[in-house]
Amino acid sequence: MRRKNLFAMPAVWLAVGWLLGCAPRQAPSEPRWESLRQEMVARQIEARGVRDSRVLAAMRSVPRHLFVPESLRREAYGDFPLPIGDGQTISQPYIVALMTELARPESSDRALEIGTGSGYQAAVLAHLVREVYSMEILESLGNQAAARIRALGYDNINLRVGDGYAGWPESAPFDLILITAAPERVPPALLDQLSSGGRMVVPVGQEGGVQSLQLIRKHPDGSLEIKDVLPVRFVPLVHSP
Ligand code: SAH
Repeated sequence: MRRKNLFAMPAVWLAVGWLLGCAPRQAPSEPRWESLRQEMVARQIEARGVRDSRVLAAMRSVPRHLFVPESLRREAYGDFPLPIGDGQTISQPYIVALMTELARPESSDRALEIGTGSGYQAAVLAHLVREVYSMEILESLGNQAAARIRALGYDNINLRVGDGYAGWPESAPFDLILITAAPERVPPALLDQLSSGGRMVVPVGQEGGVQSLQLIRKHPDGSLEIKDVLPVRFVPLVHSP
């Protein structure tokens, strides 16, 4: 008797299909973070006029998705700020790039950031300057940022939990100071800690209102040149209780 070819029978194919359908499904694959980053830089940052090639390269290499809560990773490369816990936010990618470019980072510079938050801006700076100092007033965020920065292997970022209004006098002066929360007035201690020739980028204005992103340059004679760059909206730079 001739053997039947089983695979010629439609019922067998149906059974095979059913079995395959019951196979455990694969978890949805991870997005291609690298290409999302390239796209973010091209569409949101270069397209809006940021030109400094070192800044663009830093924005292309820092894994922003690792600086946001796990549940928001897939949105990390979107054109908006995201919540990072404790009522705080990581700034929109364009604003991070713009503030960094305005400060004209040089590889021999030392930079101070006030408002560590997730640690993302500090990581971007770490690609561009010799040493980064960053202060955060909320202990929980400061500790999370420290763990993240350590895990990613950055060795030129110094973090401190404390009130940024006082700055970091022992390590001053700084060639650039970025303030990533808005004070109503520029804190005088921070202006003192800016080097001669140094650049500060700071959103100045009232909580909830429109603030002005200012670029402040300290000339060798100590005089300050202040330029309003853009209306922005940041969380407030709070005073410690
Ligand atoms: N640069 C951050 C985002 C900053 S959000 C990032 O890349 O993720 C602003 C941060 O400033 C918040 O984490 C807030 O807690 C912190 N902050 C507010 N007032 C502060 C102060 N007086 N000193 C230091 N940090 C302060």
